[in-house]
Amino acid sequence: MMRVITDFLRSFMLVELIKGFAVTGRYLFKRKITIEYPDEKTPQSPRFRGMHALRRYPNGEERCIACKLCEAACPALAITIESEQRADGTRRTVRYDIDQNKCIFCGFCEEACPVDAIVETQLYEYHGESRSDLYFTKEMLLAIGDKYEKEIAAIKQVDARYK
Ligand code: SF4
Ligand code: SF4
Repeated sequence: MMRVITDFLRSFMLVELIKGFAVTGRYLFKRKITIEYPDEKTPQSPRFRGMHALRRYPNGEERCIACKLCEAACPALAITIESEQRADGTRRTVRYDIDQNKCIFCGFCEEACPVDAIVETQLYEYHGESRSDLYFTKEMLLAIGDKYEKEIAAIKQVDARYK
């Protein structure tokens, strides 16, 4: 009975509403922690794991040597590689696909790569409207690497001393 009376008095005196206003009042003049995305963006760590890219050396040669360590390390089985030996005796991929539908952005592929060929960039503003939109081929990954190589190299430099 006591409980019913207390609840009645609380709702009659709008206690919950006043408590809510008190919380609003407490935060009204504090520094805002929300941002106006996409006009404003939060800082990114150099270790941010976004869209993948395949890199080249400055002379244009692909870094990837088709060792398949990234494929073996990938827990999501998102990477598919096929390779062939070239006329000069070196091995290169003829197929390097990443299915971003499967990828969990763990970064193991990047960690496993001995030549810094496959990397995860700072890019996160992309989307797909069907599963095939998020299936990245070697040509697409190389194109991303070519376009953002300057940014990728700068970010790798920042993190280099911790590796
Ligand atoms: S980030 Fe992880 S899940 Fe994604 S492709 Fe690389 S190893 Fe696989
Ligand atoms: S991206 Fe790196 S780890 Fe993967 S096959 Fe190429 S060289 Fe090996």
